Amino acid sequence: MPRATKWVYPFSEVEQAEALAGGSWENVRALLGGKGANLADMSRLGVPVPPGFIVTTEACNAFLEGDEVFPAQMWEQELEQIEAIESVSGKKFGASDNPLLVSCRSGSKFSMPGMMDTILNIGLNDEVAAGMVADMGDSRFAYDLYRRLVQMFGTVVFDVPGEVFEAMILAHREAAGVKKDTDLSGDDWRILTEKFKGIVRSYTGTEFPSDPYEQLKLATAAVFKSWNSKRATDYRNAAGIPHDLGTAVTIQRMVFGNLGSDSGTGVAMSRNASTGAHELEGDFLLNAQGEDVVAGIRQTLPLTTLNSEMPDIYEELVEIARKLETHYRNMQDMEFTIEHDKLWILQTRDGKRTAQAEVRIAADMVEEELITKEEAVRRVQPEQLDFFFHPQLDPAVAKAHKPIAKGLDVSPGAAIGMVAFDADTTRRWADEGKDVVMVRPETKPDDIHGLLAAKGIVTARGGRTSHAAVVARQFGKPAVVGVEALQIDFDDRQMTIGDEVIREGDWISIDGSRGEVRLGKLPTVVPDLKNPYLLKILGWADGIRTLGVRANADSPQDAERAREYGAEGIGLCRTEHMFFDKNRLPIVQKMILAKYHSERNDAIDELLPLQRGDFEGLFRAMAGYPVIIRLLDPPLHEFLPSHDELVQDLADLKMRLQHFNTMSEIDEALDQVRIKQDFLRRVKALREVNPMLGTRGVRLGILVPELTQMQVRATFEAACACAKDGVDVHPEIMIPLTMHARELEVQEKLLRAEAEAVMAEQGVEIEYRFGTMIELPRAALTADEMARCAEFFSFGTNDLTQTVFGISRDDAERGFLLHYVGNRIIPENPFHTLDAAGVGKLMEIAVKLGRETRPDLEIGVCGEHGGDPKSIALCHELGLDYVSCSPFRVPIARLAAAHAALGSPSNEEEAPHG
Ligand code: ADP
Ligand code: MG
Ligand code: MG
Repeated sequence: MPRATKWVYPFSEVEQAEALAGGSWENVRALLGGKGANLADMSRLGVPVPPGFIVTTEACNAFLEGDEVFPAQMWEQELEQIEAIESVSGKKFGASDNPLLVSCRSGSKFSMPGMMDTILNIGLNDEVAAGMVADMGDSRFAYDLYRRLVQMFGTVVFDVPGEVFEAMILAHREAAGVKKDTDLSGDDWRILTEKFKGIVRSYTGTEFPSDPYEQLKLATAAVFKSWNSKRATDYRNAAGIPHDLGTAVTIQRMVFGNLGSDSGTGVAMSRNASTGAHELEGDFLLNAQGEDVVAGIRQTLPLTTLNSEMPDIYEELVEIARKLETHYRNMQDMEFTIEHDKLWILQTRDGKRTAQAEVRIAADMVEEELITKEEAVRRVQPEQLDFFFHPQLDPAVAKAHKPIAKGLDVSPGAAIGMVAFDADTTRRWADEGKDVVMVRPETKPDDIHGLLAAKGIVTARGGRTSHAAVVARQFGKPAVVGVEALQIDFDDRQMTIGDEVIREGDWISIDGSRGEVRLGKLPTVVPDLKNPYLLKILGWADGIRTLGVRANADSPQDAERAREYGAEGIGLCRTEHMFFDKNRLPIVQKMILAKYHSERNDAIDELLPLQRGDFEGLFRAMAGYPVIIRLLDPPLHEFLPSHDELVQDLADLKMRLQHFNTMSEIDEALDQVRIKQDFLRRVKALREVNPMLGTRGVRLGILVPELTQMQVRATFEAACACAKDGVDVHPEIMIPLTMHARELEVQEKLLRAEAEAVMAEQGVEIEYRFGTMIELPRAALTADEMARCAEFFSFGTNDLTQTVFGISRDDAERGFLLHYVGNRIIPENPFHTLDAAGVGKLMEIAVKLGRETRPDLEIGVCGEHGGDPKSIALCHELGLDYVSCSPFRVPIARLAAAHAALGSPSNEEEAPHG
């Protein structure tokens, strides 16, 4: 007979699961779920864990794929393991004397906090409860557990809306004249238990199952099904978790934190999840059951209180945290329960944390010799660095505006938005393009769509590990929780904080770094990159990466910032940006409008010193590094007013001419008319049907050689002046939009002559390079010819994407492209992430051909793609020398380049056992 599939693993058989998984802990987690795998792992490490077993994700998938029936033998295997728990604990499932109660817990490969279901206290019924009462001489405990079971069972298994139960408790409390749940007596809970069973009966038409085995069966099936709940699906979509993993079910002996003041329950992080500081952080409640803390329903106490109330337990917790960190080599997020002074650990997992904490913990763990530099670099995701540029409230403004309320600073950064009181409204307003701060009494997993749509989150209740805090940190949303002064009035759609009344739709500004709430729409600032841990990580990344990182910078200020952020040169200076300056534009226009050569050259001569000044600033800021100056690129009409605007202006002027009286007024107006008409004539002459593919780039340089000559002269005069001051300069002149090697030959001759002339005048020799952008398919396909003249290539991936795809970005992004991406006709917007299959292939050809002609050809990328981590990985693969991106993205690019050099990150998760 073939051996039956093993659907169930007791904690003690973790080794078997590991052997089956080929020693890969990754696979063990996929099979047993993260929660189950780690519980089994902890019991092997000697951490106190209540005994239990795990039903595999394979069983879940078999159940969900079939007609929701358990696979053969699964149930029998469960029963066997219940017996095993009975024998180690000396308790009996369903017995009225010393009964075994269990929890039935969800848990998939990746943690999805609170998104799936868990049922506690399984095994209770009328007889068992009566037995417990007789045994304890007190009925409060047993009936509190019992009503929780019926309540959880009702909501999870039978889909009864949870509010019904809460409303019934509230009504009972009012009738009994007590304020808190904890003031209700055993009799109250017994009566409520009966009422809850009544709700189940009337809602579903069936009885609450009194047979413990029936309870366990239904609970197992319900946990399986919770994998496909809406909120779990939404969460997976947002977190990028595949939908076919399934959840495991962990069944475990219950331990009780609600047995009096020597008991309690809580959540602890081995490090501060907001800042990364190396200190135990968390919340707990005395005399409570686990879910009370996570649900954020009761105001929790900080762990420092545990330290003063139960110092031995606190010490033990610190020791376990240290042990687990060493084992998993990562910050841990642990659930614990204290039952009559005995500590039990109920869960551990890698803790969710802010970007700021991620960076600090990674850097610290290298110093503590827990992980290598490579691992530290790999742990920080390039996009997380965005946080360090996240807006913060302007400190001066923050000082001037007193906060109206304070809460816990659980997720840093500032969020400014209109107040909305529920997740649906938040989502709807956000879809309309509004900035929204969601304000809730507390959040529940059902609010996830609002949390994701909000700019920030405020809750009245909950601690550092409440649902709102955990989710906010994970998704980088600023959040302030536990604002006790806050009261929400859902009927009038307003909230009050002290005397302040804030209506839904009013603006507030929250500071998640300080836990403060202010009225109004306050300004923010972007902080600087001085974080010492970040600097360490980036330093290590620099040691790992092989791809250079330069910046696109058009002004000396940009260049200075780029250097500060670690750019190794300028990959693109768009000289036209200097032309758009409002003092210079008239000179540029004069040049364009000139009727005679001499007139045009006068204008060009006027531009020369201005450009020279800018270039000097760039060279000085980038001393020792290359600076690529791209010659004028855009079509000339971009420097003139638009055609329609001019026509309108002229019509207006002519209308007004009729109402002028004095001769001088008329003269002045006529002058205006003449100027506008000149503009219009020129605009008409320059007008092109398709300017993107018209007279621009090198074509301009060929038609107006004086312009390129001037730009080269400015470059070299600046370079010589800097060199004379001892600045190490490396100018590189770049020709845009070439399609034919002949264009380069023609320009090269002109430019080298001008460069030589300047250097001779100045008596300075400067090393420089002459190169071209590759942004047209023909240039890429004839790269071998291009490289005969060009000493470097820079892929202009924006234009290259446009011309390879044959689409114009402006038209595409306003029209069909979003539809394409939205409907997965193409996987990604090719203007955000390089299209590897098409554009990438063309680049590969160009790299190969170019280097055949000139082995030391320097090749980079200067499009926006240069700051996109996925595109950077492609550039690394293609063997480029550098990427160039906006100064703000330079750190992201440095890290992404290191990730590319480290290769695929998939082994990282295996670290604890590998
Ligand atoms: P989630 O994934 O939503 O955190 P859990 O399965 O971890 O769900 O359980 C919810 C709460 O119930 C947690 O606080 C957990 O510590 C508590 N809990 C689960 N199983 C037990 C048990 N056997 N004894 C005591 N508390 C438990
Ligand atoms: Mg949990
Ligand atoms: Mg271009």
